[in-house]
Amino acid sequence: ASRNTHEPEFLQAVYEVAESIIPFTEENLKYKVNKVLERIVEPERVVIFRVPWLNDKGEVEVNRGFRVQMNSAIGPYKGGLRFHPSVTLSVLKFLAFEQVFKNSLTGLPMGGGKGGADFDPKGKSDAEVMKFCQSFMTELYRHVGADVDVPAGDIGVGAREIGYLFGQYKRIKGEFTGVLTGKGFEWGGSLIRQEATGYGVVYFVEEMLNVKNDSLKGKTVVISGSGNVAQFTVEKCIQVGAKVLTMSDSEGFVYDPAGIDAEKLKFIMELKNVRRGRIKEYADAFNCQFFPNEKPWGIKCDIAFPNATQNELDESDAELLVSNGCICVAEGANMPTTPQAIHVFERAKILYAPGKAANAGGVAVSGLEMSQNSQRYSWDREEIDGKLKVIISQIHKTCMKYGEEADGYINYGKGANIAGFVKVADAMIAQGIV
Ligand code: NDP
Repeated sequence: ASRNTHEPEFLQAVYEVAESIIPFTEENLKYKVNKVLERIVEPERVVIFRVPWLNDKGEVEVNRGFRVQMNSAIGPYKGGLRFHPSVTLSVLKFLAFEQVFKNSLTGLPMGGGKGGADFDPKGKSDAEVMKFCQSFMTELYRHVGADVDVPAGDIGVGAREIGYLFGQYKRIKGEFTGVLTGKGFEWGGSLIRQEATGYGVVYFVEEMLNVKNDSLKGKTVVISGSGNVAQFTVEKCIQVGAKVLTMSDSEGFVYDPAGIDAEKLKFIMELKNVRRGRIKEYADAFNCQFFPNEKPWGIKCDIAFPNATQNELDESDAELLVSNGCICVAEGANMPTTPQAIHVFERAKILYAPGKAANAGGVAVSGLEMSQNSQRYSWDREEIDGKLKVIISQIHKTCMKYGEEADGYINYGKGANIAGFVKVADAMIAQGIV
């Protein structure tokens, strides 16, 4: 901890994992002797760089760019890019650290990384976003490559940004290779990639409920966020017969007691992906309530999906959810639940799916995109959706194997941490002290 005193998010992620891993390494001494935990928390490499660009007024702007290459024991570094004013080294190190375990859980050969910039795409013109992306890639291209490091999207980096980044990489390197995932289908992307994280979270919840002979059909659902992950969580929830009551953005949430149906979701997709507007417009359009600057956790529900950002669900929110009868919390976002809130769920013995297991569908389909790029071939929707379901089901099984406690409660958090760790740790030991 003393090396990383100014990195609260990174320390939080490491403590959460260490809580499960330290007792495990006490029983499995090879990991302790080889100092795997001490090595796995140290990034293999961090690159920090200047990103200068010209805004529409012709003024110079400067942002800070990062790429954290955390671990390459089981494959090339893989993890998204985040463009948001809150991006710091601490945030990207926590995300890269989580990514190592998540990628390991998918069973695909991918190491862990994460990157981004403190750039805010909100309110910027397409031309400004393009100039920023081109400048960002003009440095990043030296550090990435189809067999080295393969970034993808995350908060603030969607199809538009991936397009501009890919165009600049291709121009500089003069090669058309799978250096990024989340590409458009016509130019090397995979079907189901944009749906994958949201769909995967819902598949994971179906697996958890299935163990209890239950399902999502007829359940009430509360969701935060209205970006990529939230939108496709809603789409899949509607398909499986659940009723979605809320969505949100950084300005507040909308509560629709009638349920967000397919038509209303279409409105949200157009609002968020095309017009880049605010969620409160939904309340005006469908005559329901908007709660400014609030989170949706006080709305009574069966299932909650925190799908916006880190630390958006704290201890008092968790207590409120439990006292309102919530039976399951599944993280579409990365580390949205504070450690104290996780303990509330564990004490109440309700189902809790950590992001590194529940939201791994996105990176899993990114892994499939890499395979398709290598083969210069593309699979159809059904084939990819089928593979996604199998991967999620496999992750669920692995979490159960390592997460079952003496009283029968499945601690999915502990299960995901240990299962993710073992594969990477064994590879690190096999590859020597590197
Ligand atoms: P998007 O940029 O598409 O959407 C993000 C959503 O979260 C928006 O509604 C945004 O609101 C809200 N949000 C972002 N930051 C904050 C904040 N500081 N406070 C309140 N609300 C905020 O991102 P994604 O949907 O891709 O990502 C959401 C989460 O899922 C992140 O934690 C990401 O790391 C994680 N994730 C994403 C994957 C993917 O495949 N995309 C894969 C695995 C995890 P606003 O528009 O107002 O900013």
